Amino acid sequence: MDFSFDEDQQLMVQAVRELMTRENWEPYFQECDDTHEYPERFVAELAALGVDSMMLPEEHGGMGASWVTLAAVWEELGRLGAPTYVLYQLPTLETITREGTPEQIKNVLAYVGTGKQIWNAAMTEPGAGSSLSGITTTYTRRNGKVYLNGQKTFITSSAHVPYLVVMTRDATNPEVFTEWFVDMSLPGITKSPLDKLGLRMDSCCEVYLDDVELDESDLFGTEGKGFARGVDDFDMERFLVAACDYGWAFCAFEDAATYANQRVQGGEAIARYQLIQEKFANMRIKLTNMRNMIYEIAWKHDTGQMGRGDCSMAKYYCTRAAAEVVDDAIQVLGGIGVTGNHRVARMWRDLRVERISGGTDEMMILTAGRAALKSYR
Ligand SMILES: Cc1cc2nc3c(=O)[nH]c(=O)nc-3n(C[C@H](O)[C@H](O)[C@H](O)COP(=O)(O)OP(=O)(O)OC[C@H]3O[C@@H](n4cnc5c(N)ncnc54)[C@H](O)[C@@H]3O)c2cc1C
Repeated sequence: MDFSFDEDQQLMVQAVRELMTRENWEPYFQECDDTHEYPERFVAELAALGVDSMMLPEEHGGMGASWVTLAAVWEELGRLGAPTYVLYQLPTLETITREGTPEQIKNVLAYVGTGKQIWNAAMTEPGAGSSLSGITTTYTRRNGKVYLNGQKTFITSSAHVPYLVVMTRDATNPEVFTEWFVDMSLPGITKSPLDKLGLRMDSCCEVYLDDVELDESDLFGTEGKGFARGVDDFDMERFLVAACDYGWAFCAFEDAATYANQRVQGGEAIARYQLIQEKFANMRIKLTNMRNMIYEIAWKHDTGQMGRGDCSMAKYYCTRAAAEVVDDAIQVLGGIGVTGNHRVARMWRDLRVERISGGTDEMMILTAGRAALKSYR
C-alpha cells in the first residue's frame, strides 16, 4: 500500500495547515469550550477552503473527495489542535444529497460555505440507546398530514441546527421505521440542553416532539427503510471518530515530546529518563497502529473493499488507543497538563465521551467480532 498523498491531497493538507498556523486558535477554542459555543468562525474559515463540501458529489458543487483525503485533512487538523468533532456534519452532507428530495437538498446546501451548523440525525431515545430498534417515537397520518410524537435524547448540535432527520416508527405498524426531515422551527418541538464532560463546543439536547405537523414531502429517504439508512451511515460516523481521535493523540504526543525535551528536572531534560522514554515508545506504537488502520480502511473504502466491521474496529481501537496516548501525554506534562486549560486536558475529556457517543466500546466490539467471525462461516 502506498501511503503518499496525490497532488490534490497535498494541497488540501497544506491549505488546512496554513489556516491552523496563521493564527493561534487555541484561546478561541478554549473560550468556545468554556462557554459551550460552536466555533463558527473557525468552521467558516474551513468552509472557505472547501472542507465543508469536499465530500459532496461534483454535481452538487463538491469535490467527490475520497476517504483517504478525508483522513489526511482530519489528521492534519487534529494534529494542530483543532476540535475536529465539531465537523462531523460536514462529510455527512453527502447523506442528504443521496437520500433527500430536491427541496431538502436545496435547503441544506444553502448553508454550505457559511460555517453554520446544518443538520444531524436524531435516533437515540431515553429507552433506546445501544438498542435502537426499541425507539418509541411515532409518526401518524391524519387528514393528509403527518404527526410526530416522542422524545429523542443526546442529540448532538440540536440546539442550533435548522434541520434534524428524525427516526420514527409507524404508529399503525411498528415494524416500519421511517425518517423525517424536520424543520426545527416548527411548533411542537422543544429542547432541553444537556451538560457534557467533553465535546463541549457542540450542543447536545433532549428533543421533545409533541404532535409536530409535517407534510408527506418531509419524508426522508424511503418509507420503511429508515433504520437501514441509519445503520448504513454509521460506518462514516465511526470512521470520522477514529480519525478525530488519532489526530488529537498525535497532537498530544507532539506537545508532550517538545515539553519532555525542554523540561529539566534533577539536572537533566526529563526526556533523558527511561521511564519517560518508555511512554514515548508506547505512544508511538499506538499512533502508528492508529494511522495504519485509518488509512488502510480509507483505502479499502475508496477501492470498494471495506468490510462490515472495519469502521467499528477502528472506532473501538482508536478511541481507546488515543485516550491512552493522551493520558500518557498528560503524565509527561505533569502539573501543567492538569491545570490552566492545557489543550491536551481538553482532548482527554473529549476522548472519554467519544467512547460512548456514536456507539459504545461494547457495541463496537460486538459488531467487529461478529464481522470477523462471519468471514469464516
Ligand atoms: C455526547 C453524545 C452525543 C450523542 N449524539 C447523538 C446524536 O447526535 N444522535 C443520536 O441519535 N444519538 C446520539 N448519542 C447517543 C449515543 O449513540 C448513545 O449514547 C449510545 O449509543 C449509548 O446509548 P445509551 O447512552 O443509552 O447507553 P446504553 O445503551 O443504555 O448502554 C449502557 C451501557 O450498557 C452497555 N450495553 C448496552 N447494550 C449492551 C449489549 N447488548 N451488550 C453489552 N453491553 C451493552 C453499553 O455499551 C454501555 O456501556 C449521543 C450520545 C452522547 C453521549
